Parts: sequence; structure tokens; C-alpha cells
Amino acid sequence: MNVHNLMEDIVIKSVNKIYDTIKESGAAWLSCDCENCRLDTVSYVLNRIPPKYVISGRGVTYAADTIYSQQMAADIDSLALEGIRIVSNTKRPFHTHDRKECTVEGDSKPAFNFSTFMGSILDGTTFEPVTGATLLLKLDGKQVEMADKTWSNPYTTVKSTKGKYSFWVKSISADKAGISKTFHFSLEVKAPNYEPFVYHFEIPLISEPGTRNELDSTYSLKLKDLVLFK
Ligand SMILES: [Zn+2]
Repeated sequence: MNVHNLMEDIVIKSVNKIYDTIKESGAAWLSCDCENCRLDTVSYVLNRIPPKYVISGRGVTYAADTIYSQQMAADIDSLALEGIRIVSNTKRPFHTHDRKECTVEGDSKPAFNFSTFMGSILDGTTFEPVTGATLLLKLDGKQVEMADKTWSNPYTTVKSTKGKYSFWVKSISADKAGISKTFHFSLEVKAPNYEPFVYHFEIPLISEPGTRNELDSTYSLKLKDLVLFK
């Protein structure tokens, strides 16, 4: 069985279109538009919108038509532009320093690699998504560094992503591969007119031989939906 996220095609199209428009306009802030940067932007957008899965080859055209609205197109375009700006201003771990080639830099130091954490913030009475909620992720009581600048911590939920949030914690170096360790996280949630809330969770990990710099979207951890009360 082949499962496919329909949003991928839509987002790739949007990101390429906007990169091309910016390039044509000669914007000075656009530092690079290579395939890696474009893919970074695609990941940035896909991580911030709900996926829409279909089984490949079955009714794909039909499904793409039904889910696509003008509002969604506008949301995706604005997220794409935001992503391009951030990617363009960031030295990604796999970029060379001058960003000319954007080649993937291998890193062979042992590390604890985290999957992405995802979840939703909902109103405890209506179960509607809460927008404008600010989430601060901490590890052992300290603000956690994200894998790169396309991820923010604290993160604020926005309307287009329906109260969804996601984090990708930067890898933590280890003495060697094969070490087991449990990481204690807390997620502080605040939203206007709601009671603040702290959610604690633990992630047991085994260190790997190298740092993982590329995002594998099949490997993400769904945290439980968090509800806020007024
Ligand atoms: Zn690049």
C-alpha cells in the first residue's frame, strides 16, 4: 500500500511558484533558491498544515479538487513566503558556510536524535482549536533549542493550522552510540483568557552514531491533544 499526502503536491507547487516570483523580482534578501532550500521550505509548510492522506492511484484527482479552497491556497502561499524568508536567513546544518553550494554536510558525532513532536491545542469546552496560544518547550526546566531556525520555540498557534503545533528538538551530543537516556520535557501553554497549563512528558532515546539533519516525516511523535479552560 502506498500512502500519499495530497498536500505535498499543492505545497511543492506553491513554494516553487513563490521562489520563482521572488527570484524574478530580484529581491536582495533571497540568498539561495537551490533544491535543498526549496525542500526546506516545503517541509516548513507541510509541518504547519494538517496532512491529507490518500492511497496512491485511487481517486487522487477527485480528492485534490474537493480539499482545495481559495482560503487554503492563500494560507499555504503565506506560509510558503514566511518559510522562504526564514530558510533564506538561516544557515542550515547541511549548508556550507558560504551557502553557495548548499551541499549536505555529514556529521558523524554520536547523538540523541529527536523525532518531531506534534499536537493540538483545543478549547476544553467546545473542543475548537485555540489560536494565539503560546507554547514554550523546556527540557529539564530550560528552553529547548530547535533543530534549526525554521522551527520556533516558543511557538504560537495560528488559524491556518487549526491549533496544531510542532517542534523539532536539536540533537544532543552523546559520548557514543547505544546509550539509553530518558529526557524530561515540559510544555508551557499560555493563551489570552485561558488558564495557563503545563504538560510534562518523557522521551526515552538510544543515542545513534550520527546527527540526523534531515527531517523524516514518517518519524514523528503525536502528543496528546491539550485542552485549555477559561
Ligand atoms: Zn540553498
